[in-house]
Parts: sequence; structure tokens; C-alpha cells
Amino acid sequence: MSIMKNDYCDILVIGGNAAGCSAISQYYRTSTSNKKCILIEKKPYISYSSCILPFFISGDISYDSLFTSAHERFLKNGIDVRTNTYAEELLIYKKQVKLYSNKEKRNYILNYGKLILATGAVPINPFSDVAGNYTLRSPADAFKMKEFINSKRPYSVAVIGSGPIGLEMVESFKKSGINEIYIFEEADNILGGRNKRVSEVLESVLKGNGIRIITGKRVKTVQKSDKLKVICDNFSVDVDFVLTAVGVKSENTLFKDSLKMGVSNGLVVSGDMVTSKNGIYAAGDCCEISNYYDNKPGPWFSGVLANRCGRIAGWNASGLRKKFPGHCGTVCFKIFSTEYASTGLTESDFDKDKHRLFITRSSSRAGELGFGYPVLTQLITDKKGVILGAAMVGREGIAKRIDIFSIFIMQKMDIQSASEADLTYSPMVSPVWDPVLDALNSAVFNF
Ligand SMILES: Cc1cc2nc3c(=O)[nH]c(=O)nc-3n(C[C@H](O)[C@H](O)[C@H](O)COP(=O)(O)OP(=O)(O)OC[C@H]3O[C@@H](n4cnc5c(N)ncnc54)[C@H](O)[C@@H]3O)c2cc1C
Repeated sequence: MSIMKNDYCDILVIGGNAAGCSAISQYYRTSTSNKKCILIEKKPYISYSSCILPFFISGDISYDSLFTSAHERFLKNGIDVRTNTYAEELLIYKKQVKLYSNKEKRNYILNYGKLILATGAVPINPFSDVAGNYTLRSPADAFKMKEFINSKRPYSVAVIGSGPIGLEMVESFKKSGINEIYIFEEADNILGGRNKRVSEVLESVLKGNGIRIITGKRVKTVQKSDKLKVICDNFSVDVDFVLTAVGVKSENTLFKDSLKMGVSNGLVVSGDMVTSKNGIYAAGDCCEISNYYDNKPGPWFSGVLANRCGRIAGWNASGLRKKFPGHCGTVCFKIFSTEYASTGLTESDFDKDKHRLFITRSSSRAGELGFGYPVLTQLITDKKGVILGAAMVGREGIAKRIDIFSIFIMQKMDIQSASEADLTYSPMVSPVWDPVLDALNSAVFNF
């Protein structure tokens, strides 16, 4: 290794997407004196929006929308952004990181005062050796897949995994002109079987759009023949290409041997976002964080949480004090004009000895006047009626209604007190008994 430069920074952030960029911005805003800040990112760009990649592939948004203006903003504020630079090794006892600059094809050592790790996650890909099997995490993944679709005009695709990314991609593929789309899900329902009844509504929406859903079968292998053969027990299908979307795992290569790792091999962090070593903070998909409903730490791969935890890490690294209070596992997405959202405990966590489950059908607006669309709500409480989880599906206003349930969970409210919430009414917007109140009233009545 040739040591090229030996320099120092007060704060070094490794990973230049949601968590890393939020962390360094917050540090910059709240630190008092002229601190030297360096952001390291192995990709050629920082602050890209992973969440809009499905809409880029479908052509709904342009290339320019994939990147924010963070890079220019950081440079203007004197933050040293080093892209194409890979953090290879942590030398914690010396407060140094060994970096590799892909531009200069050299290693060098950087000394830091404080360190924030924000290395994110990487897709799980059991079929990585098969050409024509794609994953989607970064703009580069999206460019490759879009290029394949545009140049080869494929007729068919198999999407392995039916979480939010797999499902968003189904619609994206349909918009891209792909005729035959299969979804493979090993659980008995899509979304990993987490909320069966709510998922069934989505399944009928997908089927209505010509999507073929294969549930209850685990894909054993993907084989290259003339096409790609996706093989389960007693079933196989030939397709032009495959998207594997079976989840992600924390990217821990840099620190798995030097810092404390949790159950899922994500970094263990305190509520202050401090790792097992003082002065080293972490945030985002590389960490395990705890939730409100059972307080168990675990991975939760979410852009909004990466931004929130990144801010807290930057805040605390700058010397101020802020704690991450926990999360509710709130998720939303939209496919074929139907919105799905959930928060807190899911049906697959349901234990009849500990919980109660209520299903309510409502209308998104004044249904009796012929406005609005059906809304299905699933509510889970403990045996005393304290709200632990909710899931909803419908055509409009779903995500923001689930956000209300998320606040109820944070506040540890029960169905009786939550049913007193003062929500709005106007026939064209929301019914007198909003689906949130309708679900709560029905739970109170049937408790
Ligand atoms: C297709 C898609 C759709 C999504 N939709 C949503 C959504 O709608 N809502 C939502 O909340 N979340 C969504 N997410 C999840 C969200 O994008 C992630 O949770 C979020 O990007 C995590 O941010 P992060 O900064 O922790 O990690 P990442 O985004 O993974 O960023 C980590 C960065 O660290 C860099 N890095 C890693 N190791 C090193 C190293 N050793 N040296 C230098 N650099 C390194 C990586 O190159 C990467 O750029 C979606 C994700 C995808 C892929």
C-alpha cells in the first residue's frame, strides 16, 4: 500500500446517502467552530433517492430527479466530499480509517476526531451468479435494468419477493411494456404474509391488472437456459429476466470485527446513536434500532428512519444531546392506484393469548352520498385495548390515516381514548366517521 496523504478531520462520515448526508448536514449546522468535515462515499455520487428508482425505471421521472443538490451545497459550505472513495479498514485504536481512492488508485490514511458510520445495506441475492437476475438498490442497478428493458424489449419477468420494492417494481414493469409478470412469494400471501386480510385486497388488485401471483412456494433456484427458469417445488416458469427483491442486510464489512453487532448483524447503537465504542456513531440501514410496541432492537430498513437517525447522530457528534425515541415500523406504498400502509404490530405477530384483532370496512369519503372508495382497516390491540398495530388498504388517504395510528401507538393510547380524537369531516374529503374513528369505534363496540 502506498500512503498518499495523511490528513485530519473533526468529523468523518462514511456513507453518502440518506443517513450519512443527514448526519453531516446536522453536524455542520450544530457544531460551534470551524470544524473540518469529510464525507466518504464509494459510489461516484452522493444523496441519490433509492425510493424513486422504480419510478425512474417506469419512465415516470427523469434521470435528473434521481440526485439532490446536496453535493453542491456541501461543497459550498466547505464540507469535503470524497466520492469514488472506499473505506477499507477501521483502525479504531489510532482513530484512523484506511481509504482507497478509486480515482487515484491509491490507499491513504485519514485521522478523525469523531466518526459516523452510515454504510447502509445491500440486497440479499441468493441467485447472484445468474446473468439476467437483477437486484435494485442503487441508481447503477436501475440504469442496468432500464438499459436491458429498453434494448431487449423483454416479454416476461419474474419478481421474487413481494415486499414494497418488489410490488412497486411490478407496476413499473407493467408501465415499461412487459406483458407477462410473475410474483413469487414463499409465504401464503404477498408482503411476506404479514397482514393476510389486507394483503388479499392488494392481491386482487394485482390480479385485476394481469399479474400472476405464486404464493406458498419458495424459489429454489434460477437456471440459465434459453430464457431464465425460475424453479420451485413442483413448479417452474421461463422468463426473460428476474428481479430478486427478497430483502436487504446491513452492510457491515467495515466494522463487523471491531464493533458490537446485533441479532441481524446490524450495528448495535444506543438511543444516542453511539456504537459500542465512544466517539463512533452510526445511523441508517447499517444499524439495529428499537421500536415502540415491543421495544426490541432489530433492523428496520427505511429512508425516513435513516434520515431521522442520521440527524440524531450528527447532532450528538456535535456535542448536543438528542435521543432516538424508537419507531413504529410504519410503511406505505401505492400500486395500481391502491395505497397500502401499516404501522406497529402486524397480523403475523398476532398472538391470541395477548392480542385482539379487529377488521373494519369504511369509506374514504362520505360513502352514503356516493363519494369515496372502500377502506379496509385492521387494528391490533393488547388485551386491555392499547393500540399496538394497524394496517389499511384503499384508494385514497391511506398513508396519512396510518400515520395517525402511529401517533396513537407512540402515545400508548387505548381504543377508547383514541376514539375521542378530533378528526376532520367534509363530504368530499372525509366522512363524518373517518375510517380511523370508524375502526376505533367498532373495536370499542366489539371489545
Ligand atoms: C427501490 C427502493 C425503494 C425504496 N423506497 C422507500 C420508501 O418509499 N420509503 C422509505 O422509507 N424507504 C425506502 N427505501 C429504503 C431507503 O432507500 C433506505 O432505507 C435508505 O436509503 C437507507 O439509507 P442509508 O443512508 O442508511 O443507506 P444507503 O442508502 O444504503 O447508503 C449507504 C451508502 O454507504 C456507501 N458505503 C457503504 N460502505 C461503504 C464504504 N466502506 N466506504 C464508502 N462508502 C460506503 C454506499 O455506497 C451507500 O451509498 C427504498 C429502497 C429502495 C432500494
